[in-house]
Amino acid sequence: MSLLLLVDLDGVVYRGDDPVPGVAELLMQRANAGDDVVYVTNNSMHYRADYVRRLTDLGAPVASDRIVSAPRATALYLREHHPEVRRVLAVGAGGLDRELRDVGLEVVNSGFAAERMAKEGIDGVAASGGAEAVVAGVDPQMTYMRIAAAADCVRAGALFIATNRDPVYPVEVGRLRPGAGSIVAAIEVASSVAPTTIGKPEPLLMEAAAHAVGRDPKEGIVIGDGILTDIAAARAVGARSILMLTGVTTGAALEALPSSDRPTKVAGDANELAQVLNELAGER
Ligand SMILES: [Mg+2]
Repeated sequence: MSLLLLVDLDGVVYRGDDPVPGVAELLMQRANAGDDVVYVTNNSMHYRADYVRRLTDLGAPVASDRIVSAPRATALYLREHHPEVRRVLAVGAGGLDRELRDVGLEVVNSGFAAERMAKEGIDGVAASGGAEAVVAGVDPQMTYMRIAAAADCVRAGALFIATNRDPVYPVEVGRLRPGAGSIVAAIEVASSVAPTTIGKPEPLLMEAAAHAVGRDPKEGIVIGDGILTDIAAARAVGARSILMLTGVTTGAALEALPSSDRPTKVAGDANELAQVLNELAGER
């Protein structure tokens, strides 16, 4: 049976602006041989078309339904599990708004709601037009009143969804910025409500990615560079995993892991990845 490859992006296919040598070509070979390749990323700021362009340029196999980012998975989750939700307050960047609109949701950006609160002296519920859900990701324009708008809605009973809870993310080597988890934490504390989290290490992103090609996440092989995100998410859905040493995880960090947290396989580069994929293909 063909493999289902659930492939993380940053640290696996590329690292910042640079491609990881050979990985895009290898994925193209696997796709041409019949494997399902789906990309999974916790990045909460971009729209699928941004990835399609970038991956096409790299020579990787891609179509927009093969990109399951945390915002896309969040939109699919709302449509599938909460069809009653029509209006969403989005705390995040433009890519999040677009993904939510693509599944037919009415989106009120928290910046717009915050402005109305200040101008009209109303609360976040009124300013959002009665949002039934609050979705939070990385919001580079975060303000005090955006937190207020979101917390008002959550306190009033709106569903609270986090795209993911990464505390930070790297913008370049050695430089970190607050991640979605930092934004989510502010709203969580202000509302005293814990969110449902979609992204890795929770299982929902991997489930959405497998379902995008009509398969069971248990059949998946997660290829990622993060122990606490990719490898943990693989375990959460019962999938196998390959840890790539081309991103955030060092060999020393891998050595220090208890056996219960270890990936199924490890690969240091595209050649080793090709080899372990062949081994895994032979196992089932
Ligand atoms: Mg990564």
